[in-house]
Amino acid sequence: MTHSGPSAFDEVNEKVAQAGEILGLKPGIISALSSCEREVVISIPLRRNDDVDVLVGYRVQHSSARGPRKGGIRFHQDVDLDEVRALASLMTWKTALIDVPFGGAKGGVAVDASKLTLIEKEEIIRRWTRSLVHVLGHHRDIPAPDMGTDAKTMAWLMDEFHRLEGFQPACVTGKPVELFGAPGREEATGRGVAQIAAATLERNGVKVKGATVAIQGFGNVGRYAALVCYELGMKVIALADVTGGIVDKKGIEVPSIFSHKTLESVQAEERITGDQLLEIKCDVLIPAALGGVINEKNCAKINAGFIIEGANQPLTSAADKHLRNQGVVIVPDILANSGGVMGSYFEWTQNIQEFSWPIEKFRRELDSRMEAAFSNVNETAKKYSVDLRSAAFVLAVGRVAKAFEMRGSLV
Ligand code: NAD
Repeated sequence: MTHSGPSAFDEVNEKVAQAGEILGLKPGIISALSSCEREVVISIPLRRNDDVDVLVGYRVQHSSARGPRKGGIRFHQDVDLDEVRALASLMTWKTALIDVPFGGAKGGVAVDASKLTLIEKEEIIRRWTRSLVHVLGHHRDIPAPDMGTDAKTMAWLMDEFHRLEGFQPACVTGKPVELFGAPGREEATGRGVAQIAAATLERNGVKVKGATVAIQGFGNVGRYAALVCYELGMKVIALADVTGGIVDKKGIEVPSIFSHKTLESVQAEERITGDQLLEIKCDVLIPAALGGVINEKNCAKINAGFIIEGANQPLTSAADKHLRNQGVVIVPDILANSGGVMGSYFEWTQNIQEFSWPIEKFRRELDSRMEAAFSNVNETAKKYSVDLRSAAFVLAVGRVAKAFEMRGSLV
């Protein structure tokens, strides 16, 4: 993360405190909701040539007030305890906001995923699972993919978990469809981001067809967000990933480049960097890669009317405030990218019931629940005269606080 001011976890807790004040929560409750229930740090020795590299791994469980903890695992060189805490906390608010029976957690390993061989990746996730098996399980804590991990990684995690604990496919979500995954889960986050982008344009009187879109990130979230924006009739004019970006003012033919692993090999009218993409003139900007990419240094150069947060925490608080003051409509991560955990919820329930939905039903359910969460947040924003992020936190914090108090956690 490129946070230079307050830490990522402090920034989330600022929003929790603000929501708590609006709701009139007692300071002790706000403080409980700003702490993590459990934090586990592990070392992962990774065999390399004739020596070992010792990596650091994490699992942070923020809250179980509303159900088993839920959250992805990130493999990225910048992962640290503060970032994992922030992301675990965001999962608590995200699952509460969309009203699924989960709490929040997050995991990670500080390693550059792009430099790992498949065997090394498998070795790391198996070791991560063995070291943490005592705090995981389908009714305790359920991991999923995040940056640097994917369905294949989740299959290895499930396999390791089964060796240790026996058959329990609901122990992890985001698995391959051939191995207890749910058709629709892979595209769910990006699909939700695109649907929320369209709903936001409509609500603000901007035509969806032909609206220009720029997306940073061409991984799981960015790639499907681009595809569904394209399918909805928007004009995707720029895309970028870690290898750089492409621009086509006439609109990129997303389906024709969808299967490219990276954008490096894609022929384009114009090439740009990932940072330049953020400053491009467009209707909708979708940061769908790293956190903290829109910050004090570049926020004055942002040239979009709408920002839909595909990534977690892509804006620092200072940038968020500056852009809101400029009239930019910002849809927060805990709403915009919640399609992923919604899809994970569908996968989890299907695994537990040993039943599978066709993809059409998955998509219908996802779209209608995302729509409900979207209008709920907009109504709350109106009710309290606050921005969308504050409204989303008011809804989520209110629900978790209620569950926390009802459980009798205070005695
Ligand atoms: P991913 O690993 O599949 O893809 C990450 C993408 O970001 C890649 O295209 C990579 O090249 C790009 N990238 C990395 N560094 C970059 C840079 N400096 N400039 C431009 N692009 C860069 O990860 P993902 O699963 O798509 O996750 C992306 C974001 O979305 C993360 O913040 C993650 O927490 C969030 N998110 C993911 C899910 C999910 O279901 N996968 C759900 C909710 C939120």
